[in-house]
Amino acid sequence: MTGIVLRNMVEEHVIEAYNNLAGHFPKFCGCDTCRADVLVFALNRLPARYVATTEGKVVTEFNLDKDQMRATIDVTMMDGFKKVASAPRCGKTKPQLL
Ligand SMILES: [Zn+2]
Repeated sequence: MTGIVLRNMVEEHVIEAYNNLAGHFPKFCGCDTCRADVLVFALNRLPARYVATTEGKVVTEFNLDKDQMRATIDVTMMDGFKKVASAPRCGKTKPQLL
């Protein structure tokens, strides 16, 4: 059988969390470098959860408690936003909102 693709569900949730949370950090730069730094920060701290998919359909069961996983991901992502916002590698800082 061909067409099996492995997907890390945590990676998808991390990207989703990025989109949901970025707006809560007005000092966060948000350029490609800073975005990647936050995603890498979180993904290196969270255990990967792979599923096998075929043609976009998940073919293995995903038995994790998704709410618990989302909460863990959100907390880790917030740490990442704070860390990257405090010292962005791109050297840019957003004008501070008064
Ligand atoms: Zn940046």
